[in-house]
Amino acid sequence: MIQVSEKCVGCGKCTTVCPFGALSLVNRKAVPSAACTMCGACVSQCPVKALSLPAAGAAKKDLSAYKGVWVFIEISDNGQMQSVRPVGFELLSKGRELANQLGEELCAVIIGNNLQPYFAELSQYGTDKIYAVEGPAYARYNTAAYANAMVTLIKKYLPSVVLYPSTYIGRDLSPRISSELFVGLTADCTGLSIKEGNLIQTRPAFGGNIMADIKCPDYRPQMSTVRPNVFKKVVTTPGRMAIIVKEAVAVSPQAAKVRIISTQMNPPASGMKLDEAEVVIAGGRGMKNKAGFDLLETLAGELGGAVGASRAAIDLGLKPKEQQVGQSGVTVSAKLYVACGISGAVQHVVGMEHSDVIIGINKDANAPIFNVCKYGLVGDASQILPRILEQIKANKK
Ligand code: FAD
Ligand code: SF4
Ligand code: SF4
Repeated sequence: MIQVSEKCVGCGKCTTVCPFGALSLVNRKAVPSAACTMCGACVSQCPVKALSLPAAGAAKKDLSAYKGVWVFIEISDNGQMQSVRPVGFELLSKGRELANQLGEELCAVIIGNNLQPYFAELSQYGTDKIYAVEGPAYARYNTAAYANAMVTLIKKYLPSVVLYPSTYIGRDLSPRISSELFVGLTADCTGLSIKEGNLIQTRPAFGGNIMADIKCPDYRPQMSTVRPNVFKKVVTTPGRMAIIVKEAVAVSPQAAKVRIISTQMNPPASGMKLDEAEVVIAGGRGMKNKAGFDLLETLAGELGGAVGASRAAIDLGLKPKEQQVGQSGVTVSAKLYVACGISGAVQHVVGMEHSDVIIGINKDANAPIFNVCKYGLVGDASQILPRILEQIKANKK
């Protein structure tokens, strides 16, 4: 929080500029409250220079105590069965690389009820330790309860790095933890590496036109979220069992106030979850209208895939927002990605470039999409797609 020195003369100027109402006068002295975000807006307003932000690096003295790379494991629940979301395995795979570079442990943190069935699978990704917080109170995701459990474990074991999936749950949970611990959080990282002992968190900035490297050298733990399909999952220790550390964390009174009575998941618009599909047939503005997207639906049906779309196609109302692929949509890592009538803007490409085989269909031979394609078809998609469909049907006979 902002620091007020003896120089304060109680003029009150700072109290009127604070956008968070965090300063008030008590006995003719400015007093900050817990609402202070350390934005610094008040500092230059003080006529006697009585205000200052704590020096960067104030937390440095404790950094050596922080060790280990942690991954928060999300359990998905489709109403009938629960399973670990695949992004957890992807983060453990990347976490193993980071832990090797740091010479530290890789740990998974899992919260829920009856967690034993998950331990063997989580161990296969080079996981050294699994911290498990179990109990009926954790059977369903509850923001306050899960955040309290994570904060309790982080304060007890002091990890250096904590990774979260950039899913609805990860995006809800991680900011609570970062504000509780007063540490940074870099959202939607597309790259993670270690340099001079710090986590380098790479993510698109300025509309995706530059890639920014973000580091937090003065605070621990360093925390990031990563979307599904950004990293590949790699089994490195098949058959090995991690050390299981069961932790009892009481549900806080605040969390106990919230009871989840039922959860309802909307089925994916195209019948298959885009980020889990092995085949994605995506369309852009070049598909022009509903008839164009009907062709894509038919092709996806033939190949057992899902239909994706560029933002331009979403903006035209040709598909719902949840089918958008790219920087502000879903990241996919399909075995086959077919981009039809999509120019290949960087904001689209960051969401599909990790696919194994990319095929582009575009009438412009110079379209940037061909830079990331293994195969490119130059021509009118509305003529090419029916011919591909004919061929597939003929091959099936
Ligand atoms: P266009 O760029 O208009 O391209 C249409 C293509 O279709 C052209 O290459 C044309 O040659 C081709 N074409 C036309 N007719 C035919 C035909 N008959 N047959 C074959 N080809 C044809 N975009 C995303 O997709 N996902 C995102 O998540 C995303 N996030 C963004 C975030 C920010 C902050 C910003 C600023 C932009 C974002 N965008 C995103 C928008 C992105 O910059 C592009 O505008 C968008 O991807 C363009 O979509 P498009 O390729 O369908 O359309
Ligand atoms: Fe308010 Fe920002 Fe000053 Fe804190 S640093 S008291 S939030 S103006
Ligand atoms: Fe004190 Fe400076 Fe705030 Fe005036 S502006 S109340 S002198 S801290």
